Amino acid sequence: MTANILVVEDEPAIQELIAVNLEHAGHHVIRTRDAEGALQIVNHALPDLLLIDWMLPGTSGVALAKQLRHEERTRQIPIILLTARSSEQDKIQGLEAGADDYVTKPFSPRELLARIKAVLRRRAPEMTDEPVDVGGLRLEPATRRVFGAGKPLQLGPTEFRLLHFLMTHIERVHSRSQLLDQVWGDHVFVEERTVDVHIRRLRKSLEPSGHDRLIETVRGAGYRFARV
Ligand code: CA
Repeated sequence: MTANILVVEDEPAIQELIAVNLEHAGHHVIRTRDAEGALQIVNHALPDLLLIDWMLPGTSGVALAKQLRHEERTRQIPIILLTARSSEQDKIQGLEAGADDYVTKPFSPRELLARIKAVLRRRAPEMTDEPVDVGGLRLEPATRRVFGAGKPLQLGPTEFRLLHFLMTHIERVHSRSQLLDQVWGDHVFVEERTVDVHIRRLRKSLEPSGHDRLIETVRGAGYRFARV
């Protein structure tokens, strides 16, 4: 499991400690020291998860979490709050702000990694290595293989990520810009019709087992992965 994780922490030593540990675990780390920096990065490309320190210069970590939860585009991003506070009241306030979890300093890197994994599994199942089965279609993230009715199918890397996202978010309609954010991680520099090109390729790859029929075009809205 590899995720793009945005670390918002103003203390250089702690920022470094977190980054080194996350990178060692295979994650890609983007760093910033305050809420303003975090918003700039998020506007450019959505990370898979945010690790936000509660006490930041300027806008607090809790206020940043609230703001992200308030906006349509960033509502779904997994957030873990990091803090020296440990009282029950603070924890409640953090979770009410929209954080998925809460890690109290000092923390062990191992605990932090375990919590990141748990939050990603819950919020973004396409980020984990667990195989997904839908209607006779099987996707195995660990081996990057896809099987239709038991037979291997050939998919390009982008089609694989697209299919993984769709299979872990079935029955929902995804607009092209949502898919760009979720699969490409960028809604700014990639054109929406790029999504159509990759959907077409994905359908072609799924044709041998007839699973291309599971990808539905929803007129004027986007695409949906149907259960059957
Ligand atoms: Ca701090």
